[in-house]
Order: sequence, then C-alpha cells, then structure tokens
Amino acid sequence: MHPKKIDVLVASVALACVLAAPALGAAAPGASVPQGGVARWAGLAAKECGIYGKRYAAVDAICYYPIDLATSLGRHQIALWDQDGKQHLGFVQVEEGIFLEEDIELPPDRLRYVDISPADSARAAKEAAETAKILGGQGGVAQFSFPLGPPAHPLPQGAEDFGSVRTFNGKYSSLHTGRDYPVAEGTPAKAVADGTVVLAADQFFSGNSLYVDHGGGFVSMIFHLSSLAVKTGDTVKRGDTLGVVGSTGRTTGPHVHLGLRWLGKRIDPGFLLASPDLLPAVGPMTAAKPKAATQAPAKKKSKRTGKPAEDEG
Ligand SMILES: [Zn+2]
Repeated sequence: MHPKKIDVLVASVALACVLAAPALGAAAPGASVPQGGVARWAGLAAKECGIYGKRYAAVDAICYYPIDLATSLGRHQIALWDQDGKQHLGFVQVEEGIFLEEDIELPPDRLRYVDISPADSARAAKEAAETAKILGGQGGVAQFSFPLGPPAHPLPQGAEDFGSVRTFNGKYSSLHTGRDYPVAEGTPAKAVADGTVVLAADQFFSGNSLYVDHGGGFVSMIFHLSSLAVKTGDTVKRGDTLGVVGSTGRTTGPHVHLGLRWLGKRIDPGFLLASPDLLPAVGPMTAAKPKAATQAPAKKKSKRTGKPAEDEG
C-alpha cells in the first residue's frame, strides 16, 4: 500500500473514534460493564477515581467504578488520578443487565406486606427517608478491600435475584436491590468490612436491619435479622458478629439479605464477594461491540406495567 494511503486511513479511523467519544482520545481505555456491575482499573498506582462528576478514594491503589442497576446504557467517562496527581481518562460501556421477574407467595401471617395499611405505609415512608440520608455514604478514607468478607460463614450460593422485580401474592411489586443468601436461622451475621454502624433499627420491610458505613462512600446493609448485636454509632471490624440471622420483615423464611451502595449506586454484592480479578478490567478496547453483550441470553420482557416500589428488603 502507498504510504500516503495509510495516513489517510489512520486519520479517518481516528476521526470516527473522536466523534463517538468527543472527550476522549482514540486510544482511551475502557471496559464493558453490565448495569449493577463494577469496573476495575488497576496498574496505575491510583490515588483517586472519578465517575458521575464525583471524585473518591482508590481502594488498594486500584480504581473501581460502581454502575447503578438503572444506569443509562452506553458510554460514561471515568477518570483515575495516580500517586503523582496525573489524570488518566477512560470510559465504561454500560450494557443491559439481566434481571429476573419473580412471583413470591407470602404466607397468611405476612399479608400486611401485601395489603399495606396506611399506618404501615407511613412508617415505611418515614424509614425510607431516614435511610436515604445514610445510603450516600459519609466519604472519607475507604476502610474496605476486596473481596468483601462474607456476611455469614459458610456463605451458600445466593439466588440470582439482584435487580429482580418481585411480585408478592400477585399484587404488590417491588424492586430487589440486594442479594438473598439462604442462611439458617440462628447463624451469626458478620460485617463485610471495617466501618461504623450508621443505623441499627427494626424497619417495616427489612425487619431488624443494619447499615454500616465503610468510608469512601461505601455502605453495606444486612436485613431480616432475628436480633441485633450492635447499635447505631458502634465501630465494627470485618468479620465481627453484627446480629443473628432470622426472618423478620417481608420474608418467606430465614435468609441474609445483603445490599450495597457505593456513591449511592445500587450494585450487585455477588461481584464484590468474589475475587476482584473477575471484574471487568479497564484496558484497551476496540470500537466493535463487546462479545458479552451479543452472547447474553435474550431478556424476558416484562408483561407488567407500572413501576415497582423501591422499598428495600
Ligand atoms: Zn432480599
């Protein structure tokens, strides 16, 4: 090929990439991440990370980018600042998450969670307002590392129920923003990382509930405990017993519900209980659509109408 022709070809490819992502160079590193997932950018001795216009601490010199389960699909810019203060830019390509629909039959003694009285409804709304203030996280130094500690030991395989829309007794729909693990009644529930208990309370939907702030905008929550072993304001260490597994609140039986918020984003705990090496890595990407997206099983389209409630538990 004539050298000049090559130049023209390179120039047109570069232009196409610039048009697709105006803020980034043609060779910007990226990662393809499902809704509810977390991308990982390692190898640059990271000090701080940026996404959604927020700047936050790196974890063990690695940047992680939490993607809310309802994040809009497509490219989102990310940043990494290394130990020398140099900024690196990249992107995450958000792909559609696979979320199930579940029909759940609550027993007769739990029908108050299906036909919710005005008093219970008011109570739940008050609790939701209280927890909303907590779930953004306090920021500060990150007191966690990955993988997180298991919320119970041994931890059985969780259901693929993160992000599922649940319909209770054919009537009441709710979005499930955590994961349920079938742990036996009476098992100790454990802290997934060091932190501070920012709320320990009996709540309508989630029963005896714990919210632990781990710094760096990261909050974990464990629900449905039969009893609590800590109180609001307590400092805890990873692996500390926080309470006893039970079935309080809207449940069909004993289990651990683990929920996570990072920068306020609802992410799948399954990803952070496994090795961080398994997370989508930010690196060189081609313009081609990632394989994972085309190979994903066809998503069952919802037959239901209306938006499910975003009550926790
Ligand atoms: Zn749950």
